[in-house]
Amino acid sequence: QKAEWAKLKNEATVTADGHPVELGANIGTPKDATGAVDNGAEAIGLYRTEFLYMGRDAFPTEEEQVEAYSAVLKAMDGKPTVVRTLDIGGDKELTYLDLPKELNPFLGLRAIRLCLEMPDMFRTQLRALLRASVHGNLKIMFPMIATLEEFRAAKALVMEEKEKLAAESIAVSDSIEIGIMVEIPSTAVMADTFAKEVDFFSIGTNDLIQYTMAADRMNENVSYLYQPYNPAILRMVKMVIDASHKEGKWTGMCGEMAGDEIAIPILLGLGLDEFSMSASSILKAREQISKLSKAEMASHTERILALATAEEVETYVKEIM
Ligand code: PEP
Ligand code: MG
Repeated sequence: QKAEWAKLKNEATVTADGHPVELGANIGTPKDATGAVDNGAEAIGLYRTEFLYMGRDAFPTEEEQVEAYSAVLKAMDGKPTVVRTLDIGGDKELTYLDLPKELNPFLGLRAIRLCLEMPDMFRTQLRALLRASVHGNLKIMFPMIATLEEFRAAKALVMEEKEKLAAESIAVSDSIEIGIMVEIPSTAVMADTFAKEVDFFSIGTNDLIQYTMAADRMNENVSYLYQPYNPAILRMVKMVIDASHKEGKWTGMCGEMAGDEIAIPILLGLGLDEFSMSASSILKAREQISKLSKAEMASHTERILALATAEEVETYVKEIM
């Protein structure tokens, strides 16, 4: 079976009825980028930059960051590369950053909220990203966006840093897309409004499920509520994809669900454009997708979304496969 998959390494991902989709990799370090390409990745759908900030005793400098981001962009050789800005807080702490102790850190000052609170730190990362952008096909993505104001504020900082670099005659790519993760229900519900201003969405189901079901993604006591196939999640995913397409934008998914065998046929039917997963899952997903008809999967969408429970969804998909 592995040998069969290996043949697909340099192939595009196309459904049985001829529709292309993009399979990307989720990575945590620049070194992972070569592994992603070796596993057949057509893109990086999520580069989690927080690892660059962790396991050290001070913030990474602008130069260090330029080096890391450039390395990833060069390794991807022009392929789409979605770099997520710092997603710290929650369970991810930095020893050198004295964050307030919070009762509910996952609902607290984390990710984009923290970056907007600490604009100097954030500007350094944005500047490094902009400087690295000349080495490839960079897309900047903000995590944990809950309101349009947050997106606008973050984007404004990108634009300001871009202007500063231009004034210093430092080259910056002029085709950088700026998008957001959809991992908070308010943003999924408001996707039609966001779609007018963002360049793309990437659905972060790891958090979207936890926040929609109000069940901590790490808490075993409530793990029965952690339901990727819950119709509530699927309906939100549909809202996001439809909203983006209506504005001529694209939607990816970079949560674990994107590489899930049961979820893939559903997501294909819903029209998801990009699936980003751990590199080791890519070839298997490519093989699965090559055998699925997008039109046929789309014909099941309405019935699947009308089902009442996650279990019914799972049973339905297993039956049609
Ligand atoms: C997600 O929330 O789905 C996601 C991809 O981000 P992380 O797992 O890093 O929170
Ligand atoms: Mg997340």
